[in-house]
Amino acid sequence: MHGLVIGLGVTGEAVTRQLQRRGGTVTVTDDRPGPAVRDRAQELRVPVAGAEEAVALVAEVDVVLPSPGVPFGHPAVQAALRQGVPIWSEFELAARWDSRPVVAVTGTNGKTTVTTLITDMLVESGRKVVAAGNNELPLVDALDLPGVEAFVVEASSFRLQFTESFRPAVGAWLNLSPDHLDWHPSLEHYTAAKARIWTAQGPDDLAVANAEDPVVLEHARKGSAGTVTFGLHEGDFRLVAGELRAPEHGCIARADELPRRLPHDLVNGLAACASVISFGGDPASCSAVLRRFEGLPHRVRLVGDSGGVRWYDDSKATTPASVLAAVNGFDSVVLIAGGRNKGLDLRVLAPLGPRLRGVVAIGEAAQAVADAFAGVAPVSTATSMEEAVERAAFMAEPGDAVILSPGCASYDWYNNYGERGDHFASVVGHHLRARP
Ligand code: ADP
Repeated sequence: MHGLVIGLGVTGEAVTRQLQRRGGTVTVTDDRPGPAVRDRAQELRVPVAGAEEAVALVAEVDVVLPSPGVPFGHPAVQAALRQGVPIWSEFELAARWDSRPVVAVTGTNGKTTVTTLITDMLVESGRKVVAAGNNELPLVDALDLPGVEAFVVEASSFRLQFTESFRPAVGAWLNLSPDHLDWHPSLEHYTAAKARIWTAQGPDDLAVANAEDPVVLEHARKGSAGTVTFGLHEGDFRLVAGELRAPEHGCIARADELPRRLPHDLVNGLAACASVISFGGDPASCSAVLRRFEGLPHRVRLVGDSGGVRWYDDSKATTPASVLAAVNGFDSVVLIAGGRNKGLDLRVLAPLGPRLRGVVAIGEAAQAVADAFAGVAPVSTATSMEEAVERAAFMAEPGDAVILSPGCASYDWYNNYGERGDHFASVVGHHLRARP
């Protein structure tokens, strides 16, 4: 098999190596074939074609293999669609190469968190599983790890988009709100990509669905798998009298004993329990993991506490929906928001007004943030993170939370959300030491 790999990042490289190991050959195309890409291609002994040659190459290959970040409108992807050349993500390759079971998680927000919870809960249950499918560990590479009985897969829309036979034994869809509209041509297109998590499932598989998200529920009803639901107030797994409850097993944990207990944390916990128990994991292990889970970095993480004001880094919040989830967890907030907008409508944030002491708008989207809150909360604009922290500190009163929850990507000022969150935490630390 001869594949055209588009984009030689971590996943593109893994796909190239794994296809070669199985006797295939690869040509790589990269829109920005800089020295790093050329070096890597040389090590892999594959030819590199520039963007202008890529379209012509499509007719010469058996399959086109786009990397996760490659936009749907990429000329080579579009050429393959026109010519009927198969387009597969690494998930499709993995599904064709390996028959071990997969627990997959998709959704606009919470994928990494829930993937982590499920993995920890299954390991605690004595199962030999690994988390894969994100950029750190592509699923095609995880197949090589010794002694793994099943994979817990974080399934982004980019990877689900180009699948045909990827069939999770348990597939959880957490929620849906607009995202990645700089990648997908429309919201319908994005939704259809997410829905592929359940498309290849059969009656022996299980779809784990958010009972409180109408789009997710509608797709669950269409599939041929069994359905298990979760939600804060509705669903098989839900919160009753302050307890996370599972059908047949009763109370898994009391919400007030969990380190993470904002409403969306509880929903994520319920989704993880539903997936794990559906996969034969044990409820006591779910309970143990939830009781010790402190959350992942850059997701509403406390980074400063002084003078009655608590500072949170939620740099991973790159969609308005995740900003809503964060701010709705607190009574009085100074919000730092903005960055590079991913083509999303920030005006949906306006209902947060009554909870907001004020807003500090940052980055390329500062004006859009200011417009979103015009008339509902005081807004000031900052042109650096240092200035944003100063302004937020000036606005905050004892009892408030100051949250960096940008609702936008970080690429205007930083290389990634992690850098943005780390910088915020260090600026906050500096500020609090200077003015305790
Ligand atoms: P993903 O992998 O889908 O991007 P993460 O677990 O990395 O999700 O979380 C991304 C952002 O979304 C963080 O700001 C986090 O606090 C927020 N978030 C996590 N779970 C949810 C949820 N269920 N609903 C809304 N926002 C969430």
